[in-house]
Amino acid sequence: MNENDSEHIAGVLVRAGAAKADRPEDADIVVVNTCAVRQKSEEKLYSYLGRLSGLKKKRPFLLGVAGCVAQVRKAHLLEKLPFVDFVAGPDNYLDLPEIVGRAAEAPTVRADFGTDWREVGPEATARENPWSAFVPVMEGCDNFCSYCIVPFCRGREKFRPLPNIVAEARAAAGAGAVEIQLLGQNVNSYRDPESGLGFAGLLDAMCAVPGAEWVRFITSHPKNFGDDIIRAMAANPKVCPALHLPLQSGSTRILERMNRGYTREEYLALAARLKESLPGILLSTDVIVGFPSETEEDFEATCSLLREVRFAGIFSFRYSPRPLTAAAAIPDDVPLEIKRRRLIALQALQKTIQVEINRSFVGREVRVLGTGPSPKGAGRFAGRTDGNLVVNFDSAADPSGRFLTVRITGSGPYSLHGTTVEL
Ligand code: SAH
Ligand code: SF4
Repeated sequence: MNENDSEHIAGVLVRAGAAKADRPEDADIVVVNTCAVRQKSEEKLYSYLGRLSGLKKKRPFLLGVAGCVAQVRKAHLLEKLPFVDFVAGPDNYLDLPEIVGRAAEAPTVRADFGTDWREVGPEATARENPWSAFVPVMEGCDNFCSYCIVPFCRGREKFRPLPNIVAEARAAAGAGAVEIQLLGQNVNSYRDPESGLGFAGLLDAMCAVPGAEWVRFITSHPKNFGDDIIRAMAANPKVCPALHLPLQSGSTRILERMNRGYTREEYLALAARLKESLPGILLSTDVIVGFPSETEEDFEATCSLLREVRFAGIFSFRYSPRPLTAAAAIPDDVPLEIKRRRLIALQALQKTIQVEINRSFVGREVRVLGTGPSPKGAGRFAGRTDGNLVVNFDSAADPSGRFLTVRITGSGPYSLHGTTVEL
């Protein structure tokens, strides 16, 4: 979502006459896009801004901060950091030409913004990747998980009209995109504002887009994942057999405190239904360790759930209190050392699971979408399977954006490798 926001920020400015520079040293306008989900990403912003302010002393340019940190910290950014010329929250990207213009004319009156969401649309999206297109379906979130700052940064849930989503996907596929990635904080709660059609219907509409061979979506919330969506996934071979389904905790007591709206048992039942209806589906998830009051027993419940579901990938985080959230008002009482230890233990467990899952692919031929050169060296390229596993392989030509068949000859915890069978 953050990458897609950057495509919008760049696209809006390019449409207004700007051209993209390769590095801040060459730019007249620098916009730093930000994430507010964890404290760490916010800290990185302040050190990066410090570097940019040094650059600005040597050569003036307009410096803006966009995204979720801009939204929740606008007063701080504009009042305390004199080298920041403007801020633009996630609802304000369409106003960027005006905001930048105001900042350019009167550097002392630094620019702020209003808050009405309007979709940016494909005509102002500077896609980074021509063969895999992000297509947002919604903005904001109504769930208010107790740890999460997103509803405060991105506002309430707003859905794009279905015809606009279909038009954007068609245009992207017409321009060469073979993969469509639907985006939203909670995509499976999607409802077309006109017809009331839900996410299952949206998936059907996506699969009818000519040229789009793979359809993915992120993120899904377990509490809204109806069987109609599972049926739509099973009925449409274009929908990739991969699902990111954030768990957060395997303990019902912690899930309640997180306000997640499901129990451990409900999550397990959903994972079982998915695996039964979509054989071979690879699940991935997000986990937070050290949420306030989390005991060893709660943490062990998360580990046992990981052993039971066997995710193909996880993103795991130490709990970090965020401003405005409900959890910020309760004591962050799990000591840092324990959070660290739990995170290491969780990641070690997950690694052993991934080693086994990835090993089961050795000897198989898999369809891979090439993504570009691999960091593994010259002549090596990388791609992804429909299940979203990373594959490294040799190739004479850059296979970016093309499908190929790779025979898997080896595997590790984080990727597969093999040789191309045909190009
Ligand atoms: N809408 C998505 C994800 C939003 S944020 C969803 O509902 O899953 C991405 C991930 O960041 C979350 O799934 C969660 O695991 C993590 N996260 C969010 N707030 C956090 C916090 N305060 N501390 C640690 N991790 C957090
Ligand atoms: Fe945050 Fe929960 Fe909404 Fe995801 S569903 S964005 S975790 S409030």
